[in-house]
Amino acid sequence: PVDVLTLGEALVSLRSSGPLALGGPLTMHLAGAETNVAIGLARLGHRAAWVGRVSDDELGEFVLRQLRAEGVGTDGVRRDPDRPAGLMFLERRTADLSRVQYQRTGSAGSALTCDDVAGPLAAGARVLHLSGITPAVSDSAREATMFAARQAAAAGITVSLDVNYRARLWSRDAARAVLTPLAGYASIVIASVDELDLVAGPGTDEPGVVAELLGRGVQTVLVKLGADGARAYTRDGAQHLAAVPVTAVDTVGAGDAFTAGYLSGHLDGLDLRDRLRRAVALGAFAVTAHGDWEGLPRRDELSLLTGNAAGTTL
Ligand code: ATP
Repeated sequence: PVDVLTLGEALVSLRSSGPLALGGPLTMHLAGAETNVAIGLARLGHRAAWVGRVSDDELGEFVLRQLRAEGVGTDGVRRDPDRPAGLMFLERRTADLSRVQYQRTGSAGSALTCDDVAGPLAAGARVLHLSGITPAVSDSAREATMFAARQAAAAGITVSLDVNYRARLWSRDAARAVLTPLAGYASIVIASVDELDLVAGPGTDEPGVVAELLGRGVQTVLVKLGADGARAYTRDGAQHLAAVPVTAVDTVGAGDAFTAGYLSGHLDGLDLRDRLRRAVALGAFAVTAHGDWEGLPRRDELSLLTGNAAGTTL
């Protein structure tokens, strides 16, 4: 069995260095929250596998090739002959402003089914990582996500959920109706401050959401605070850890990197403080490099940004 199994939609991201309306060169990259997490884990030496559907064409081939190059397991990936790759355009409109545009409706990735995930789940994993994006992309993907969470929880697999709200895919109310029950299967719930009330009653404040989640059996609640670092809650209390001070050049992917770092620390059996340290370290790598995952560290690079030769476990 793998260390971490994750599932979702991988997108082909086409990046422009200037206004899209003017045309010009685009560069092709792999994007997707769950593939970002899988790559972050694989770079640190963990066995990570990703399950999803990719198009049966050159774009699907590109997605697979990128994942394989990063050492992510792709045995459970299905090629869908009838549907195109999901696309995203990332437009650097100005130095400070990037805009994103999606073409993902009806994509191969959105056609994910329970049947696609059943085999890989049965093969086992220490952790199943889910994001709140997958249940938003289609009815069948939502069923597959719920099925995976239910099966994993029943089999004693640790379930991790990153809320990852995507306003373009569904309303807050629609998201809450799905993500609140989904969080009930999770041991680890990760959210930004503005996503917290999507896993609890509307308008619930942070302490309220945390109390509700811990009461429902969630072991750890992680709240991402961007350049302010992160907070972690368990039954033993709360901890805050500052971010690593770096020059941020591209914040996309920071949350996924943070999640990969946290899960890596979990797999290595680190205590909560050191899991958080590794999470904020990976978040810092993500924001200080261009691309969603390209700048993530290998294990021997973990302390590059913090320079802690003194040997703090990152
Ligand atoms: P995204 O959706 O863009 O991936 P997010 O909102 O999910 O991001 P953030 O809170 O922005 O997640 O970032 C995740 C973690 O990355 C933070 O908790 C922090 O540790 C780190 N991080 C984010 N921004 C910065 C920054 N400017 N400098 C250093 N670390 C940062």
